[in-house]
Amino acid sequence: MSVLSSNLGYPRIGEDREWKRALESFWAGELTEEQFEFEMKQLRLRHIQKQKEKQVNLIPVGDFTYYDQVLDLAVMFGLVPERFNYEGGPVSLETYYAMARGNQDAVACEMTKWFNTNYHYIVPEYKSGNLNLTENKPLKAYREARDELGVRGKPVLIGPYTFLKLSKGYESHQIPEFILQLLPLYTQILVELEQEGVEWVQLDEPILVTSITEEEMKTVAYIYEQLHEAAPKLKKLLQTYFDSVSHYEQLVELPVQGIGLDFVHGKEQNTQAIETHGFPEDKVLGVGLINGRNIWKSNLSEKLAFVESIAKHVSVEQMIIQPSSSLLHVPVTVTNEDKLDSTLKQALSFADEKLDELKLLVDGIRLGKEAIRAQLEEAESILETIAQAPFRNRVAVHEAVKSLDEKSSKRQHPFSERRVAQQERWNLPSLPITTIGSFPQTAEVRQARQKWRKGESTTEQYEQFIQNEIKKWIEIQEEIGIDVLVHGEFERTDMVEFFGEKLGGFAFTSKAWVQSYGSRCVRPPVIYGDVEFIEPMTVKESVYAQSLTDKPVKGMLTGPTTILNWSFVRDDLPRSQVAFQIALALRKEVEALESNGIQMIQVDEPALREGLPLKRSEWDEYLEWAVQAFRISTASAQDQTQIHTHMCYSEFKDIIDSIKALDADVISIETSRSHGELISSFEEHTYDQGIGLGVYDIHSPRVPRVEEMTKMIDRALRVLDPALFWVNPDCGLKTRGIEETVVSLKNMVEATDVARNKL
Ligand code: GLN
Ligand code: ZN
Repeated sequence: MSVLSSNLGYPRIGEDREWKRALESFWAGELTEEQFEFEMKQLRLRHIQKQKEKQVNLIPVGDFTYYDQVLDLAVMFGLVPERFNYEGGPVSLETYYAMARGNQDAVACEMTKWFNTNYHYIVPEYKSGNLNLTENKPLKAYREARDELGVRGKPVLIGPYTFLKLSKGYESHQIPEFILQLLPLYTQILVELEQEGVEWVQLDEPILVTSITEEEMKTVAYIYEQLHEAAPKLKKLLQTYFDSVSHYEQLVELPVQGIGLDFVHGKEQNTQAIETHGFPEDKVLGVGLINGRNIWKSNLSEKLAFVESIAKHVSVEQMIIQPSSSLLHVPVTVTNEDKLDSTLKQALSFADEKLDELKLLVDGIRLGKEAIRAQLEEAESILETIAQAPFRNRVAVHEAVKSLDEKSSKRQHPFSERRVAQQERWNLPSLPITTIGSFPQTAEVRQARQKWRKGESTTEQYEQFIQNEIKKWIEIQEEIGIDVLVHGEFERTDMVEFFGEKLGGFAFTSKAWVQSYGSRCVRPPVIYGDVEFIEPMTVKESVYAQSLTDKPVKGMLTGPTTILNWSFVRDDLPRSQVAFQIALALRKEVEALESNGIQMIQVDEPALREGLPLKRSEWDEYLEWAVQAFRISTASAQDQTQIHTHMCYSEFKDIIDSIKALDADVISIETSRSHGELISSFEEHTYDQGIGLGVYDIHSPRVPRVEEMTKMIDRALRVLDPALFWVNPDCGLKTRGIEETVVSLKNMVEATDVARNKL
């Protein structure tokens, strides 16, 4: 037996987002169910065919989906919540999409982030009682690939323990019952696969890289013993990814034929575990070597050297070489990116190119390094070229980061003193009213930008259009009675893209989309070089807005960690260093705003929390540099300059110390959806800087009533100091309509007046 290559999952969206378009056309009624199924099948087979041409030995099947792979499994298990009126049997596409997106009568299932990625899955809802397998989707996928393409694929499905942990709606005492429900379903799937003659099945258990207990590992062992007993001949590869496993010794004892480990993100610990404890001779090791989370070419010589080093503990014949995770998290192919700088382009590797790298690696292992010398040298020279490129070696940027010291991240005086200076400077009423930044991005706004980008209108015309919008909204805000105004962000498509386009070191692709949730895809900017401030980015709009009113206008910036977390980042520097580079560029922007008379500045960090590592033990290190980056960007502000920040989540308790450490003068938090929970966290922890808890939910077109918001404010004031409390919606209003926004804000002002009268 010689070493095999394997892939863990392939992007479903297509080179040109064909998948997205098919879904949306089907939802819009433009495709019949048959037409839709046909298009899906074409795509599915094309993806398998591509992997076959790239000579992947174990091609994943069943990883394709019509929305989300977790939802698929819930539906296979008949786990359809009551509110969708499901009566057993195969689940219709209508019900499937109702669960994903909601319908007239029932709210959608919850959606949440898949581990530390920007992919979102649909959360299964537990229900007691008997469950039946409605469909064996992996088996169907296996047969299709075999019959249509002659490919004997490797069915992929999420393993039982991860499925259980990601589901909701049960208490801990119900776990044994839940397991007993799931086991027969998994057993049936595996037995049917075994009978079909399937060789390998991949069971994804990424939950095993999070902080789980020894006790939980015993449950995992029980589960896998049951599965093994039911289908002993079917080779089960228990796959982990995104980090190192928490309980290596127990894991490798499980009765499965293969274990897949991530040697990119969990490299150090996973390697150390193998070196210390060895690896069982009767198992196969899935060696996750090619980074499934970034877009850069690998250093193949290093990867080969790594294989050699672990070959001391695991024989090469026992290895399957694979990407570190599913390729779902990277774009499809670099070939269509013809606008990129060539040094950058040749250093990129998306899903298809990663499979080429995989093939090379396996050739190198099978035939020896000499056989692929030319390719190794080429890869090395490409990496060398980009490493030496001027855009990666901006001396001034490196020096600036190096010379950061304690003072660089400290404002001149503590909050207690700044507060006095700010009170004097701003003289705001009690419970000051503000908004989070954006106002409705109507079709008209988007069209104006499109026209300008296509060259159908001049820059002057476009800027005039933006000014008119700003003017309109300054008037609206004044009339409504808001105290601290914003310019409305009409010139921005996206809060990261806007800054990326103006800073040095960022590149933008044409087609490098990745799925975020359902049919929604994002195209993250690429931070490929040293990040550098070129010229003021927001001063013009803010200054114009301020010129129209006597009330303060808040400047509006996106924070360093959010820019970092929502981009593809170069992999030759630690993330913290890149964050500091961005922070230093933003610091110049803060200074530019200040010197142009904008002395209230909001630096948004909605993505601070989502960068948290999967293991709690690593949180502190991340939080420390993320907080420091924020502070670097804001610390040079004068005492009287009021720094605001905004965050889009209300899970607050566990990182409250870090949030305090940002040392912002005012923070606004997205809260309306779990108001009670958030307020209770302030009963336990004091927060004694300015704070605005969003008083209404902007994610819904519903107009909030005055009394609802009065209640919210009253509740908050029971635990928070009225002298520090701000009133605002819970996030930006970019996605809302104009009318509902105006009425909602009027109600918010009225609610504030009621509360003020009670003070
Ligand atoms: N200032 C941004 C806006 O209002 C904040 C968006 C966000 O928090 N995601 O749109
Ligand atoms: Zn927000």
